[in-house]
Formats: sequence, structure tokens, C-alpha cells
Amino acid sequence: MLEDKSQNLTPIAKLGEFGLIKHLTQHFQIIQDSTKISVGDDAAVINPGNKKVVISTDMLAEGVHFNLGYVPLKHLGYKAVVVNLSDIAAMNAVPTQILVSVAVSNRFPVEALEEIYSGIALACDRYKVDLIGGDTTSSNAGLVLSITAIGLADEDKTTKRNGAKPNDLLVVTGDLGGAYMGLQILEREHSVYLANPNMQPEMEGYDYILERQLKPEARTDIRKKLEELDILPSSMIDVSDGLASEILHLSDQSGVGFHLYEEKVPMDSVTISTADELNLNPAMAALNGGEDYELLFTISSSDFDKIKNHPDFTIIGHATEESQGNFLVARGSNQLIPLTAQGWDAFLNKE
Ligand code: ADP
Ligand code: MG
Repeated sequence: MLEDKSQNLTPIAKLGEFGLIKHLTQHFQIIQDSTKISVGDDAAVINPGNKKVVISTDMLAEGVHFNLGYVPLKHLGYKAVVVNLSDIAAMNAVPTQILVSVAVSNRFPVEALEEIYSGIALACDRYKVDLIGGDTTSSNAGLVLSITAIGLADEDKTTKRNGAKPNDLLVVTGDLGGAYMGLQILEREHSVYLANPNMQPEMEGYDYILERQLKPEARTDIRKKLEELDILPSSMIDVSDGLASEILHLSDQSGVGFHLYEEKVPMDSVTISTADELNLNPAMAALNGGEDYELLFTISSSDFDKIKNHPDFTIIGHATEESQGNFLVARGSNQLIPLTAQGWDAFLNKE
């Protein structure tokens, strides 16, 4: 963390804007064939060939989207890239380039930006994307990081939010709720630390959910797996805001309803045990927690056999006629509970 190396910190002013950009970007390699001109010119140039270009951008603001009290800068850089690549993956595209813009106050030394860029570099390497540009400016308060991701998709293979049909199966990758439970542990330990800085944080046994929160991964592997199964989802979205909210987006844009089966929602055992420990409903963490960055999609029911025993995929529900609305089918009772992005608390209180 910053405090540990406060002896030799370099003020940004010492390098100046251009020196800083060069310092931060000089070690990035270009690996994508589609990248023609990268950092250093007035604009980058990419050649998409015969592919479609898919573009998405996401901004992260200190105090709104992250708390530097417990988020290491390197993780912040990594996660900022990943959340953008997740949006590209949700369109069934291959991420290829990113642009990174930073607004930073003079409270941050050069070394802090180096940490952020080391996380960005790690993500670029892991996901094989090129850093091709960005912008750098000073800010009066705090740190803002804005990343734009570019991807390439095959003609007619992009997966939008609006293609789900009644009777389609609703499928999710991986497991849900872990990132939210990880955040609960980080916030708990951070407030313990603020109350008494000599207390040792109790993080043992929580590795999985802490990693889900601090170092999430984008499911860029799914495009290929679906292609190998000869499945093209009828609609797709990434799970950034919580399962309930994403289902409602698919519902709204596709003009269908959904039945979601609570007992089918995949959750890791650490997510469940931590929820129990904190007296939270683990299903609530999956439905309203967010930041899991899994992919949620619909497929034709005729594709059921192709996907039913696949370790990456869980069928969690199905689409209905729009007039039927959106419901959670409760575990055990089969009671139908209206699915809302908020208002889940009402159900919680009945437990
Ligand atoms: P301009 O004044 O034309 O906007 P800049 O001096 O801002 O140019 O940027 C010079 C080059 O450095 C451009 O290629 C730009 O995309 C790149 N760049 C600027 N800031 C960043 C950054 N934070 N990360 C990566 N590349 C950057
Ligand atoms: Mg600029």
C-alpha cells in the first residue's frame, strides 16, 4: 500500500503529462493483428478486416465504485479492464484493444499510477488485448479511471439483449453472489481496522470470495465453448448488477417474462457459509449483489441436450410470455415471488 513506501515517492509534476504517459505505457506490447497504430499518435487505428467492431466503455470513480482503503491499486487496474472485457464477451465478441483514461489528483504519486498500470498490464497480457491509447488529466479530488474496450465479432454472431423467446432456457455461467459476499468481508475488516489499526484482519478462509470481489475475471472463454457446442444464445448479458436486474433487462428488451428457480442458482460453498455467518440470505447476494461478471443468456429449448451436463453452465429458469411477468420460484415451497431489482428485502424480512 501507499503508506509503506512513502519515503521515495515521485510527484507526478516531476515527469509532466507527456513524461508520465510515456513512463506508464512504454512496456506495453502490441499483439493483435488488427492494431495498426497505437499509443503515441493523435489517434489509434485498427483494421477489423471482415469483422464487426464492438465497443464499450466503463468509468470507475473513487468513493463511488471503489474504496482505496481496502482495494489495492494493482487490483483496481486489473478489475477496471476486466469489467470492460466482460461487456465485450457479453456481445459474443473477442476483446482486442483498450483505451485507458485517468483523472488523478496530486495526492497520488507516480508510483500509485505505476501500480494501476501494472494491473492493467496484467489484464492485457492475460486477455491478449492491446493498450492503444487514452487520456491523462489532473483532477481536484480523487481518482477516476475510464476504460474503453474494443472487440471483434463475426458477422451475425453478436448476442444482443433482445432475442429471447418464450420457452427459451435461461442459463448462467460459473457461480453467483461471491463478489458481494467478498465485499461484505472487506467492509467488515476495514471498519474493524478503522476502529483499531492494531487489529489483524481476519481474512482466512475467505480467499475465493475476496478474489471474486478484488480480482474478477471476464468470461471471454465462453464464446468458444458455445461455438464448440454449436449454440448461439438468443440473448446475452453480463452479470454486473445482480441476477435479478439482468433478468429484468433481458425481459424488458426481449419482450418475454422469466421464471427463475431459486434452488438452481449456482453458488459456491464459501459464498453460502459466509452469508450464513453474516446472517444474510445467500440467494439475495446472487440476485442483488452484482459484480460477479458471469454471463447470463437464453438458448432455444432444443439445445437442452447440448448443455445439460456442462460444468460451466447451469440452467436456472426459462422464458415465458411477457404477460406472465417475472418470478422467482422459491426453494422448497415453489411459491412465486415477483422478481424486482429492488424490493428483495421484503422477501428477506419474511424469512
Ligand atoms: P492529445 O493531446 O492529442 O489528446 P495526448 O497527449 O493526450 O494526446 O496523448 C498522447 C498519446 O498518448 C495518445 O496516443 C493517447 O492515446 C495516449 N495516451 C494518453 N494518455 C494515456 C493513458 N493514460 N494511457 C494510455 N495511453 C494514453
Ligand atoms: Mg489527450
